[in-house]
Parts: sequence; structure tokens; C-alpha cells
Amino acid sequence: MGWVSSDNKHEGWVACVAPDGRLSSSSSGEGMLVKGVSGRYKRDESMPDYEIIPDREIIGWRGACDCGWQGELWKRVGSSAEADPAQHREYVSRDGFADASQRLEEAVHDEWKAHIAPTEAILGVEAAAREYSQAGNRLNKTVAAAKAAGASWTDIGRAVGISRQSAHERWSDKK
Ligand SMILES: [Zn+2]
Repeated sequence: MGWVSSDNKHEGWVACVAPDGRLSSSSSGEGMLVKGVSGRYKRDESMPDYEIIPDREIIGWRGACDCGWQGELWKRVGSSAEADPAQHREYVSRDGFADASQRLEEAVHDEWKAHIAPTEAILGVEAAAREYSQAGNRLNKTVAAAKAAGASWTDIGRAVGISRQSAHERWSDKK
């Protein structure tokens, strides 16, 4: 159903919005299921703590993520002429299912991708930091081996791209 981030910590989807603001993440044959019992709607038979909102009563859609993030409300309008993606207004006929249109799905997916972008970028930093640390350990070991084999601080400095003095300061007290 949803979109999942690389670290599996975010799962996003397009939720249908009930008149009282509750979000739906699934549907039954009779309508959209929302968690909670307000008493204003019929309860679902198999999941008694869910109510069924008839498709025609859905007021709009918004992105949702299981981390708690919610996107902006996309308002459901009465005709295709009133629909305007730039204004977050979309038309879905009240005669059928209230599921989001293809373009709304794509627009909300983009909102969700912007929501997880920092997380995804940090994963890249973490991977690079791991490699950086491993490369640093390898450098220390190879320098120690070179010194043990008789290389001078001048040779080591040249190999690393730093001065003899810097190489000496960095590694002379390391075993
Ligand atoms: Zn999230």
C-alpha cells in the first residue's frame, strides 16, 4: 500500500480525510474505515473500534506517515473545473469510491519524499562516516607497517600528501 524509506522507519500513504478530520488508511465495500467511535457512523463488523465513512462524505486527502507526519490537506471539490493541484484541490466523483486520483497520489508521494529527504541524506552521511573511519584505521596500520619496514617520515609524508613534520606528529607515538 505505502511507500517505505530506505531505513524502513517511515511508511507513507495517501489517507482519505473524514468530515471530523480523522484519517483513513483502508476501506471496506461500504466506505472508508477510520479508527475511533464517534457514534455518528456505522461501526465496522469485523473491527468494532472502526467506523465506516461513506465514500461520498470524504472531504479530502492528505499524506500520512506512520512516524506521525501528515501532509497538507487536499480539499475535495465538487467538479473537475474546480480542481487545481497548485491549490491542493482535487475532484473525485461522489458517485464512486473516494480513493485518491493518480495525480494526487503522485503529488502526495512527492510531499512524503520531501518529508523523508533529511533522513535519507543522513543515511548517506552515516555510510560515508563508516567508510571514513575504516579508511583511517587502515591508514594507521599501513603507516605503522611502513615505519616498521624502514620507511622514513619523509617517505610516509609524501605518500599521504602531507609534510614530514606532520606525518611525524600524527603517527610517531602510535604503535
Ligand atoms: Zn515519516
